[in-house]
This record gives sequence, structure tokens and C-alpha cells, in this order.
Amino acid sequence: MQLILNTMNKFEALGLGDSILKAVEDMGFTEPSEVQEKAIPILLDEDTDIVALAQTGTGKTAAFGFPLIEKIDANSRITQGLILSPTRELCLQITNELKNYSKYTKGLHTVAIYGGASIHDQAREIKRGAQIIVATPGRMQDMINRKMVDISNIGYCILDEADEMLNMGFYEDINAILSHTPEEKSTWLFSATMPREVATIAKRFMSDPVEITVGHKNTSSKNISHEYYMVGSRDRYPALKRLADANPDIFSVIFCRTKRDTQKVAENLINDGYNAAAIHGDLSQNQRDLVMTSFRKRQIQMLVATDVAARGIDVDDITHVVNYQLPDEIETYTHRSGRTGRAGKNGVSMVIVTKSEARKIKALERILKTTFEKKDVPSGEEICQVQLFHLANDIKEAEINHEIDTYLPAINEVLEDFTKEELIKKFFSVEFTRFHNYYKKAKDLNNVSEGRGDYAESSGSSVRYFINIGEKDGYDWMRLKDFLKETLDLGRDAVSRVDVKENFAFFNTDADQKDKVLEVFENFTQDGRSINIEVSKTSGRGGGGRRKGRSGRRDGGGGFKGKRRSEGFKPRGSRDGGNNEGGNSGNGRRDRKKRSDRW
Ligand code: ADP
Ligand code: MG
Repeated sequence: MQLILNTMNKFEALGLGDSILKAVEDMGFTEPSEVQEKAIPILLDEDTDIVALAQTGTGKTAAFGFPLIEKIDANSRITQGLILSPTRELCLQITNELKNYSKYTKGLHTVAIYGGASIHDQAREIKRGAQIIVATPGRMQDMINRKMVDISNIGYCILDEADEMLNMGFYEDINAILSHTPEEKSTWLFSATMPREVATIAKRFMSDPVEITVGHKNTSSKNISHEYYMVGSRDRYPALKRLADANPDIFSVIFCRTKRDTQKVAENLINDGYNAAAIHGDLSQNQRDLVMTSFRKRQIQMLVATDVAARGIDVDDITHVVNYQLPDEIETYTHRSGRTGRAGKNGVSMVIVTKSEARKIKALERILKTTFEKKDVPSGEEICQVQLFHLANDIKEAEINHEIDTYLPAINEVLEDFTKEELIKKFFSVEFTRFHNYYKKAKDLNNVSEGRGDYAESSGSSVRYFINIGEKDGYDWMRLKDFLKETLDLGRDAVSRVDVKENFAFFNTDADQKDKVLEVFENFTQDGRSINIEVSKTSGRGGGGRRKGRSGRRDGGGGFKGKRRSEGFKPRGSRDGGNNEGGNSGNGRRDRKKRSDRW
């Protein structure tokens, strides 16, 4: 009577039909995840709206995908389900998953539509009959406007990663797209977090939704450990390098706040001989694909990413997430750290902070209900040790290449006078001396008694700065103050005594903001023009003084080029664009955030 489904498995108990159960078996899923267990029976059972909150990696795709496939009439070619998702990468991932789920569901077609690929090809695919469309909001809008799709009969609309779609500014698009859908459809909203914007959308587009939450909101997974490293603001990059060097097998995502920083950090790493690349919104789809392919193949060990670009990263085995800078919103930290510790593995989330950010660590601990371990940036000596043992282990594990055998007699001759011990020492020296020299004089980066003698500062004192923009650039004191407040993201009264001259201007901040100010404006460009800030010689109480070596390379310069050999990957075009992002687009997005989501 029944098929080979031996015992009633847990997926069957959710009410799924044979075709999906067979696919589930093929995929090797043995147990439903929590969000699947909660959402699937409800969605199969009734046509209701739903808001489901669950972290990344908890199996949300199947939680909506299984019931959606069950609900679709595969005999009709009409488009019945629409899934909106923030990025092309996610769009393709979802489409792929759905195709796997429905491989025994005869006649069901799922089509992905997204920017950066031929719109006509996509239109043709839809014309052939697509009961399910998975789309990015921008391309969807475009195709609706060109009458290439008809979503006027859909019964199900899924907003996947709703928080991120809103983060990316897709509110208007979503709004417009939904206006083309029938009133009586079901709307299923899936999200990792529930910022106020998502609540707003739920209120506006959904009627009486069932709500399910998996795990505690904002709780990070248990197998991720969090640690932080406190350094001077100019030591972020050297600290990053040391963290990488102290973890030779690192396979990591490094998060920066802006595209500009992302690009810069990646370029520095590449110049210093690491297998690194940047991924951010200014890269073309093609470039992003290349970067992601190399990352998946582990040709890239350090992927430097913006938060938005990282949303599409679905790679297991990431050992470390590095917060090169902390994000603006606490929730973003959860997204970031969730890139590691996947599939039951352990992961480490590292945060590089300056002294003035210490309170943010406290806030994170409180909200995530977890502890962050304060760790020291490894010393040069520690790193040398780690690298040495790593090398020894590599040698131990290496498979012998017998091509060498023919040359062995000749090589033996060259080396015949040495003992085994001498040979080992020599061999290690070849590989290791450059490394050792680099770190020989490396300073202790943990000494964050700010100022290092450059500035005598005590809290409450104020620092005066010189900035090379003025009236001729269209600033008066009010506009400059606004610009500084936005760019620096400081409190309302943090910028004072703004004095704008024709070609330049002065302003003050509290002394303890000095590091942040100098950091934000390091290599800052706007509209292609470089904006410099110097601490003014005429600084107010406690300010003043020189800034040593700001433009010079830090931590002793170039480092050990070629230490890590690039395995053929050259991040193509990673130098184009990206640099004139300024603070504008970032600020635009930040402005829309509610205060309470912030630090
Ligand atoms: P989310 O959308 O919540 O971030 P995904 O739906 O992308 O998560 O799922 C993450 C990974 O887990 C995918 O590779 C998916 O195939 C896998 N997965 C989903 N459900 C299960 C399950 N019940 N058992 C095992 N693996 C699963
Ligand atoms: Mg997902």
C-alpha cells in the first residue's frame, strides 16, 4: 500500500506529501529544524499570513518552500507563488533549494529573476510557465513595468530576509510589487531579526499574522565564542594581520563598515601577501561570482565584506569572523557572527575595538547575554612560534612528490655535509627568517594608553582640528557641523566651535573622540576629492601636538610579501570604483534606522 517510507518519519508527521518526502530523503535531512517544525504544519493547514523569526542557517527556505510546493497546482501554468529576496546570490540559492525540494513534483517550475543577467532570457523562462518566481525586488519591479510577468493571480507571497531587504532600501519596491498582487493572497514573512521596519511592513501588508519565533531574538549560537582585542585606532590593520598570522589556517570573513574600508583593507592584505579579496556592492555580479567561487574553493582565506554583500555568503566551515569595525546596529553583529559556527562546528567571532568602543562590548554582552573574552593581540614571538609549529606540521603531513626522486642524488650531493639537525634548521630558516625579521621588532599592540605621548589628554578636554574644506566647497558652519556629525556619527553636541574659512575650517570634539575622528577621516575622499583632518597646532586645552606617521605605513611596513602564495586568484577589477562612497550612502541608510536599534 504505502511506499517504501519505512516508518513514519518526522517530516511525514508534519503533513508533507510523498514527492517532497522522497526529495527530503535524497537530501539527507533526517529531522526538521525548529522553524520547519513550527511553520510547516501551520502553513499546510490553513491559508494564513505568518511572521517567522529565525536566525540565518536555521532552514527557513524549507520552512516556506515545502508548504509552498505542496500548495501549488503544478497542472496550472499560472504563476502562483512569489518569493522576494534581497540579493541575487540568495535568489539563486533559494531557487536551487526549491528545485531540489520539488524534483519529484511533476510539472513544477521555479524561475529566478534578478539583476545583472539578461531580462529577456528571464522573461522567456517565465513565459514557458513558472508557478513559482524567486526575485530580487529591483528586477521584479522592472519586469512588472515591462509587463513581462503577471503576478495578479498569486496565492502566496513570501518576503524572505525581510529585515535585509528593508536595510537595503527596498521598501518602496516591495510596496509597489505588492500592489500588483491580489488582496486575498497569503503573505509569509521570514526574517532573522525584527527591527521596527519589519514590524511596520507586517502591520501594513499582513492581516492578523501567526507569529513564530525560534530561539531568543538576538541570541547567538552557543558554539560561537566571542572575543575582543583592544588596540589604538591606528593599529586596527596591524592587529588584523597578527590575528591572521596567529591562525595560519584561518578561513574568515572580515567585516568593515563601508565599501571604502572594505576595499582598502582587502587591498592592503593582498599587498601584504595574503589570500584576500573584497566583496561589496560596487563590484559587478560577475566579479562577485568570481570572488565567491574562489572563496568557496578556499583560494581566498580572508574575504573582506560589507554587511550587505555578506548576506549572500552561505559557506560552511568559516573558522573566524573578524569585526574589523563594529557595526552600527547591534543586530548586525548577530548576522556577522552567524557566518561562523555553522553546521554544528565551532566558530570564533573576533572584534577589534578601540578604547572608546569598550562600552559597545558591554552593550553586546548585555543584549546577546553572552560574554566577550578580552584577549591580547598576539605578540610577534607568539606568532613566530605558531607559524613554526604550523610549518613543522605541514611538513609532517605533506605527501611526498616523487617527481623529486630523479633529482635526489644531485640534491644529496649538495647537502651531503650536513647532519639531519642542521638540515632541519636550515630548511626552517629558509622558510622562516623573513617572518622572524618582520616580527622581531614588532611592538606590543595592546598598549592602548592612548596618545603615546603625542597628546596629553584627559577626559573632558577638547581637541581642535583643521579640515581642508571651507566656504569655497559650499560649507558654512552649520552645514559643516551637519556633515561632521553625520560622517562621524557622534552625538548631537559632540562637534563644537566650528569655524569655517574660505579654504579650510576648524572644529573641536571631546578629546576621547579624537581617535575616532582621525580614523574616520583617514584616507577619506568625497566626490573624488581627498579630505584631510589634522589636529590643529592651536588646539584648545589638552589638545595640540603632532600626529606622528599618520600617512606612513603602520606596524613596520609591508610585511612578508608572498608568505602566502596566491593560488592563481587575482581579484579582478577589485580596484574599480568603490572609493568614492564617502559617508553619504551609508549615512542615508543609517538615518532610516531607529535610534533604539543603535548602540
Ligand atoms: P536560512 O534561510 O534560515 O538561513 P537555509 O534555508 O538556507 O537557512 O538552510 C541552511 C542549510 O541547512 C541549507 O544548506 C539547507 O539545505 C540545510 N537544511 C535545511 N533544513 C535542514 C534539515 N531539516 N536538516 C538538515 N539540513 C537542513
Ligand atoms: Mg534564507
